[in-house]
Amino acid sequence: MVDMKVHVLSTGVMETDLTWLLLQGGHTIRDRHHKNEPVVWRDCPTHAVLIEHPDGNILWDTGVPRDWEERWAPTGFHDFFPVREPVDGPGYLDTSLAQLEMTSDDVDILLLSHLHFDHAANAKMFTNPKTRILAQADEIEGANAITGYSSGAHIVSDYDGLDLEAVHGDSEIVPGVSVIHTPGHTWGTMSLQLDLENDGTKIFTSDAVYLQESWGPPAVGAAIVWDNVRWLESVEKLRGIADRTGAEVIFGHDAEQRKSLRLAPDGYYS
Ligand SMILES: [Zn+2]
Repeated sequence: MVDMKVHVLSTGVMETDLTWLLLQGGHTIRDRHHKNEPVVWRDCPTHAVLIEHPDGNILWDTGVPRDWEERWAPTGFHDFFPVREPVDGPGYLDTSLAQLEMTSDDVDILLLSHLHFDHAANAKMFTNPKTRILAQADEIEGANAITGYSSGAHIVSDYDGLDLEAVHGDSEIVPGVSVIHTPGHTWGTMSLQLDLENDGTKIFTSDAVYLQESWGPPAVGAAIVWDNVRWLESVEKLRGIADRTGAEVIFGHDAEQRKSLRLAPDGYYS
């Protein structure tokens, strides 16, 4: 077992209509028995994961940007997913890294679960000679085919011009740190598997699974999905790995689950 220290970083909390994340009859999309009930708005937190590993520092995802309101305005997402943190306050990637006495220059490998506006938005903080930036090959291919400002939740300026290194499918990045190809949410969404000495296996799903309710069982699909069949297949792939390894599964945007996590800077996993 590799000795590593894993920090879960706060990288901005959005709010949103739950319907974006959970197509559950009567609960979000209304059936006739619930048609007069108000829509459900809920916190939609984002996180990043900083892994201090003998082979270097690895960062998983980057959260939302401080200039979210301007950057998202051309897409309309600034009204559907407003960020509740003050833009000049703490709670974003840069301040969360600073709490660990780190900057973007200390990151050897940045892993992007996918290139959506709430995961890859701060990738350009890492355009230093040191940081390798990795994403799935099919995610890079799909994102690079977008013309104009954005398509869906991909905003081209978040990642254009970056030297993205392609990962092909399931892959061990360094010992104990693996990515799992879990397409469906986007062309090449991936999840993160960490095999830890003291705390066992952790799987960070990103948007392959948004919430505990998405996981089920049974899995519950969502509105922001590129391919629903592949999305469901990916959830079951993760469930198989979790069953086999006894992993704790940490969902992409679950406000309830977040309360139970050991968050940086005080808490960590090892
Ligand atoms: Zn996404």
